[in-house]
This record gives sequence, structure tokens and C-alpha cells, in this order.
Amino acid sequence: MEKQQFKAESKRLLDMMINSIYTHREIFLREIISNASDAIDKLAYTALTDDKVGIDRDQFAITITRDSENRVLTVSDNGIGMSKEEMEENLGTIAKSGSLGFKQAMEKKEDIDIIGQFGVGFYSAFMVASSITVISRKYNEEKAWKWVSDGAEGYTIEETTKDAPGTDVIMTLKADTEDDKYSEFLEEYELRSLVRKYSDYIRYPIRMEVTKSRPVEKAEDADSDKAPEYESYTEMETLNSMVPIWQRAKKDVTDEEYETFYRDKFFDYHKPLRIIHSSAEGAVSFKALLYIPGKAPYDFYTKDYKRGLQLYSSGVMIMENCEDLLPEHFRFVRGVVDSQDLSLNISREMLQHNRQLTIIARNIEKKIKSELKAMLENDREKYEEFYAVFGRQLKYGTVSDYGAHKDACQDLLLYYSHKQGKLISLKEYVEAMPEGQEKIYFAPGENRDQSAKLPQVEVLDKKGYDVLLFTEDVDEFVPQTLMTYMEKSFCNVSSEDLGLQTEEEKKEAEAKAEALKGMLTFVKESLGDQVKEVKLSSNLGSHPVCMTPEGGMSFEMEKYMKRANPEFAFPVGRILELNADHEAVKAMQSAMTEDPLKAKDYAQLLCYQAQLMAGLQLDDPYAYTELVCKLMK
Ligand code: ADP
Repeated sequence: MEKQQFKAESKRLLDMMINSIYTHREIFLREIISNASDAIDKLAYTALTDDKVGIDRDQFAITITRDSENRVLTVSDNGIGMSKEEMEENLGTIAKSGSLGFKQAMEKKEDIDIIGQFGVGFYSAFMVASSITVISRKYNEEKAWKWVSDGAEGYTIEETTKDAPGTDVIMTLKADTEDDKYSEFLEEYELRSLVRKYSDYIRYPIRMEVTKSRPVEKAEDADSDKAPEYESYTEMETLNSMVPIWQRAKKDVTDEEYETFYRDKFFDYHKPLRIIHSSAEGAVSFKALLYIPGKAPYDFYTKDYKRGLQLYSSGVMIMENCEDLLPEHFRFVRGVVDSQDLSLNISREMLQHNRQLTIIARNIEKKIKSELKAMLENDREKYEEFYAVFGRQLKYGTVSDYGAHKDACQDLLLYYSHKQGKLISLKEYVEAMPEGQEKIYFAPGENRDQSAKLPQVEVLDKKGYDVLLFTEDVDEFVPQTLMTYMEKSFCNVSSEDLGLQTEEEKKEAEAKAEALKGMLTFVKESLGDQVKEVKLSSNLGSHPVCMTPEGGMSFEMEKYMKRANPEFAFPVGRILELNADHEAVKAMQSAMTEDPLKAKDYAQLLCYQAQLMAGLQLDDPYAYTELVCKLMK
């Protein structure tokens, strides 16, 4: 028979497994059992709608068989089984999430210790076995198939027979060495404790023949003074408690158990940041075990990431990834939901319109929100850790669907406060507003330093008004969507009227602008199309000039559009604002009569400066340096 080669990346993973000198190689059993359990899940699900399955739910089981003489350990299941193609596909390549995550971590050269923390899958059996045979018959098929591999050399597949659907994974253990006693995986005690440790919650019985002893029954007239004699006998024993972790009382589950379950189930070897174990009774009863991850999955902010929770109904998994249970704005949450109130016979398509499911989803959304809020209020450090990873998602949530989800998200947002030098919530901003301040000010910029230096920020700072420094693309969409927060409107410091002037001051400013009309016209004419308008400003503090965007847009938004959607990007009108009280502007003004050419150069120089301060690139940096040199001569 011709040997098939493993696909390249699978071979690498395999090599790592075979050569691993890892003390936690015992996890192979957990992996093989978990595959068996998944396979039974699939057949149990099929049985809901297909009468031909012919197995009662209580007949599903995983069986461990030991053959010490031949050093063979077998794990069998009566699950869905695999066809020939599926064997090729699943056992010949790195299949999915678990193994892939492992591979990626390896490539990033993270600690080798991680092997034990991943769902490394089927291949992990090569850590303990020198040869593996898989015999499988797919449900609804007559033929069975035998897959054999002794590791790196590849594998063979041939036809065989098997009485019933399901899979046997037959592992011939490696020979013992001085340091490595592989034969311990044939010992009853060891196997029992491994199942308890890693697979206790598996919802199907994991059975193994165990040896027990009992007193020998004696004849009536036997001498009763003699010590009782014992005989040993064997019996099938169920090794696991079968109670899924989410069905247990919170007080009976240790943090470690919660964390181990999370790692195994969701293939994330980082500790979860928060664990939410909740149970609801009422119109619909359900149990939920939810996790807020400590790190975003590598594909979190891409289209590839799939949100959703695992859905069980009375212990039968009906959906691996139920999107409808989790709103998009909380898509980072992972977890499991189990409800006995969902009808088992309902099709996956119909689930979407299921009333019970909608109630559960609403309940879960509320629960997540209140947990996050509690974390924000009572454990700020942890919340900020969370926010650093998933804050952007909450901002997206706030602005998505035209603000339909703002109630769930807006209270959870944090922004950097210029005045307090730390992240604060919008509520904290409003509550700290001094008498007289009417607006929530924000300053968009490429980074905090840049936005903090905007002239308007200086002016507001002098008045004792705080400014939120916006640095992410999505930030500016938030005030646009919310319009107000706690009845206060938002104000972009660089594009809008700051609302600081009294009526009287406004009149004064208008009179001043009228008086200086000649200068403003001169500057506009000197600059031509470079600017849309030139005007006076009273918001410049100690700065001579600034550049502001026309019409509620911002330069950051302009840059964002250019990156995100260049076809539709358009330049935002530039408005040059002058501080008539500044020495530099005064110098230009006097040059207008004494040396108009020089005044024109000054106007150009101020325009360049304003662009640089606004974080805008100069179209022609050479012209700028030439001009500076010319003026210095
Ligand atoms: P993962 O479990 O992460 O998908 P594995 O390498 O453990 O990766 O398994 C690969 C695939 O092989 C599984 O997804 C499943 O489709 C199939 N498989 C493994 N074991 C069994 C089994 N006992 N019964 C049916 N299919 C199985």
C-alpha cells in the first residue's frame, strides 16, 4: 500500500510532538477524549431529527481499553465516525483552531511550555505513541476505514470492517526509557486520575474496566475467626462525573477549573480577564458561563473572527457558534449557554426567530453590560486592561447601526482626559465639569501629544475646562452618533465655536475683524487656493495661528477617509485663523505697508506653521525650507 505524506505544516507540528520532551504529555488523553465527545455530540444532534440513528441518548459512551501486554491503549466512541475522505482531511492535515493556534504560538517562539495549554488535537497522541491506528465507520455508511501511521513517515488508509458507527483510536505506546515511563498510561490508577483531572465534565460516560476486590463468600460452616479472604473481579466503571461545569454551583467550582475549561474549550492559553457564571429562572431558564478574554485573538478585528456562544439544550450541543446569542458590540465574549427551555427539534435556521433565544440573548447582553460596568466602577485597573484590548470594539458598538446600541456601550467608554492625565468615562467628565462649562470638549489628533498642544486646548485649559484627547479613527464618530451625553453636547475644539464668548465679546470680535479686514484680505490673496478662508480667532492663546477644518469635519477624518476609502476621499476646506494680538501677526501687519513682498512671505510662513501644527503634511516641504532660509538672510 502506498504511503501518503502528511501536508507540510502538519509534518512540522508532528515533529514537534514526537520530539517534545514535555512533562505534560499526559494531555494527549484529554485531546483524544474531547474528539470522541465532539463526535458523539454530532451524532446526538443528528439523532434529534433522524430516527434511523437508533441509539438512545444514554447509550452514548467513550470507552478506554488497556492491553498492558502489547502496550496498547484504545479510546473508542460510538459517535458520528469518519468517512475515508474525512480521515484524509482531518488526520492528514492540521485541522482547526486548536492546532493552528498552537502552531502560531510556536512560530512566535513563545514558551514551549504552552503545549499543555492548547487544544493541540489528535497529533498530541504522538507524544506518547510510536504508532497509531484509527478505525472508523461513518454513520449511515457501510464501509469502515483503517488509518495507520507511525508518525513522521506518513500514513496509510485501507478498507476494513466495523460493526457499528464510531471510532477507535488505538495507540501503541512508546517504549519506556530511564526517564520516560510511557507504560504508566496503561495503569488504571493513572488513567482514572487523568480523566478526573482533564475530562471530568465531558457529558458522556467515559468508561473503563477496572479491577476491584471483594470478600470471598464463605460456606456457612467455615471458621469465622479467620481473616476474610478477598478475590478480585473486574467491572466497567464510569470515571467522570459528567456534570458540566456550568451546571455546577458557583461555590463548588474553583478558579482553576473555570480557567482550565476555558483553555480547553476556546483554545486560549491566556488567562481570561473575567468569568461570568450566571443562572436565570423565569420566562426562560438558562445557565451561562461567559468569559472575557485577556487578549484579543489574532483575527479579532478582521472579518474572519466569528462571534457567538456555544448553545446547549438539556446537555445536547445544538450549535457550536450561535451568533444570535451575542450582540456584535460584545463579540469578544466567549462562552456556553445551556437552556432546557429550547426545543431540541428545532432546526438551526429556525433558531434565529426563536422567542426564547431572543429573551436569553437580551438577558446575556444585560449581564455582560452590568459586569463590565461593575468592573469599571470597582476594579478600574482591570477594566483598563480590558479596555486596552477591546475598547475599540465598544466604540464601534456605539456608532454601529446609527447608534442603535449606544445604551449598551456609551457608559463603558473611556477617553484620555487632558486635565486629569488618565482615562476617564464620559460620566466622570461631565461630573467634573466646573460651573459654567456647557460642552464636552474633544480634540482629535494623531496622538495625545499632538492634540494636547492644539491652541484651543490651551485656551480651554486656562479656563479650567477638560478636553478629551481623541486618537483613534473611530473616536470622532462617537460624538457624531451620540450628539449629547447626560444632556451635554459635544464640541470638537478645532472645528467648532468653543462657545466661550459672551454676546458682548462676540460683538467686540466682530468689530475687530471689521477693522482688520484689510489684513485678512491681504493674507487670503497672498495664499490663494491654499486656504478657503482667513479669519481672526480669540481661541489661540499664546499661538499666532491655527488651521481649522471647514464644516464640522476634521483633518483626522480626512486622513482616515483617504486611508479607508481613497476613491471617496475629498479634502476638507482649510481655514486659517490668526491671533491679531500675537507679535508675529503684528509684524506681518506692519510689513504690509513697509515691505509688501516680505509681508506676503510672512503670510506664507504662518500658513505653513498652521498646517504643521494641525498635523498636516506640507505639499512642498522644500518651498517651506527655502522660505525660512530666505527670511533668515
Ligand atoms: P480539532 O479537534 O482541533 O479539530 P484534531 O486534530 O483533534 O483537531 O481533530 C481533527 C478532526 O478529526 C476533528 O475536527 C474531527 O473532525 C476529526 N476527528 C478526530 N477524532 C475523531 C473521532 N473520534 N470521531 C470523529 N471524528 C474525529
